Amino acid sequence: MSAPRVVSVAAGSPAARAGLQVGDELLAVAGRAPRDVIEYRLLVDDARPELEIRRGHHELTVELDKEAGTPAGIEVSSAVFDRVRTCDNHCEFCFIYQLPKGMRRSLYLKDDDYRLSFLYGNFTTLTRFTELDLERVLAERLSPLFVSIHATDPLLRARMLRNRRGATSLRWLRALLDGGIEVHGQIVVCPGVNDGAALEGTLAGIVDEYPELATAACVPLGVSDHTTEPAMRPHTGAEAGAVVDLVEQWQALCLGALGRRLFYVADEYYLLAGRRFPPAAAYDGFPQHENGVGMARAFEAAFGGDEGSALGTRRGFFAAVDGAPAAGYRAPRAVSRRTVPPASVSPVAVALGATRSGEVGPAPLRTAVVTGEYGAAVLGPLLARHHGDAARLVVVPNRFFGGNIAVTGLLTGADIARALAAEPAGERYLLPDVCLSEGRFLDGMTPTELPRPVEIVATDGAALRRALEGGGAGERS
Ligand code: SF4
Repeated sequence: MSAPRVVSVAAGSPAARAGLQVGDELLAVAGRAPRDVIEYRLLVDDARPELEIRRGHHELTVELDKEAGTPAGIEVSSAVFDRVRTCDNHCEFCFIYQLPKGMRRSLYLKDDDYRLSFLYGNFTTLTRFTELDLERVLAERLSPLFVSIHATDPLLRARMLRNRRGATSLRWLRALLDGGIEVHGQIVVCPGVNDGAALEGTLAGIVDEYPELATAACVPLGVSDHTTEPAMRPHTGAEAGAVVDLVEQWQALCLGALGRRLFYVADEYYLLAGRRFPPAAAYDGFPQHENGVGMARAFEAAFGGDEGSALGTRRGFFAAVDGAPAAGYRAPRAVSRRTVPPASVSPVAVALGATRSGEVGPAPLRTAVVTGEYGAAVLGPLLARHHGDAARLVVVPNRFFGGNIAVTGLLTGADIARALAAEPAGERYLLPDVCLSEGRFLDGMTPTELPRPVEIVATDGAALRRALEGGGAGERS
């Protein structure tokens, strides 16, 4: 177990008053070495907690002058202080196996850790879940959790996970529900494997065995050009339509039997099938928004002025955890939301409408929104309806991953740079922040390396509307 390191101390906080410093290692709280940020939070929640820290070669004990239930005011370097539990499955559809070599190491981490499910909304298969984990989840009320179901037929599930424990690990789902834990499920649907009759069996199995499940979303597998699995292929339009039809039938059944829809379909299926999205009300508050379910309708509503639908990235429990670092796709996206000039142009020049050569030209006439192919299908009609010719799209095909990968969040800097290089200088380019994690694209590039200056805009309809209305979302320098 490695001691977490303090990465920030809030000014005026109990930690700051006690003299804690960035770089201090946190060895123990109230005499115990916390295993993760969840345990840290519980320990530090008490009044006047005692912290043992290591600073350089010295170990110190400090007492925080705080009341019970108030924050300590530090952020630490990781969420899990012992080892992140990695997954022992080898799913054919796993996107991590489809990543090209040479990307950031953290992208190759196959986590299957209920703690990351609780903190960040990562899905877990429960194949490495234990009796001790169950005790802890129930005792500490670690709810909600997010579980990958894929199939309720034990043999099919074991086959899909390529792990015989996949046949039995849903018993933990039953135990979690029995313990009153809120659980959201997902079914990654692979054509020819768990679609059709198998999918119907899974939906029936969920209603039969796990009716307390809060939601279950059907999402399509992603197939990049780098897959080595010959049986994995994208859905056809007809197969996507069949998934939509089946899930909508079961939604209607569940509305009658359980009083709620229970099942939801990812937006990608509607796009693939060429169908209209259901109305926003059919998403019941968008509980699986970050899984690509209802994103288009939420975006549209926020773009049209309904600020309540500007969901952006929901940080779940993480937002409330004093000390938890950002991680995974919930890491801060942009380093700062300002106009990012290409390396050869100064920010001041950009604000004045400078060209790459440094001349100051007229203010940009048109605005272009950079997006992936699926984003274009949603944004195109919205821009045409609300902004006419004043705004247009720069649609970036995903050559890096290829295959059926068309979501904006998986665009790399290299693909965006290629597309922008063919666009005129002197126009205004808006880049959704979903392409970035801590200011970098998936391939490690930064927006400053792009051939045109871009303005980074939060990926929600309200932020884009404000940016297009001219004043930006407070992000243009
Ligand atoms: S459980 Fe998830 S991370 Fe593990 S192999 Fe399957 S898809 Fe990949």
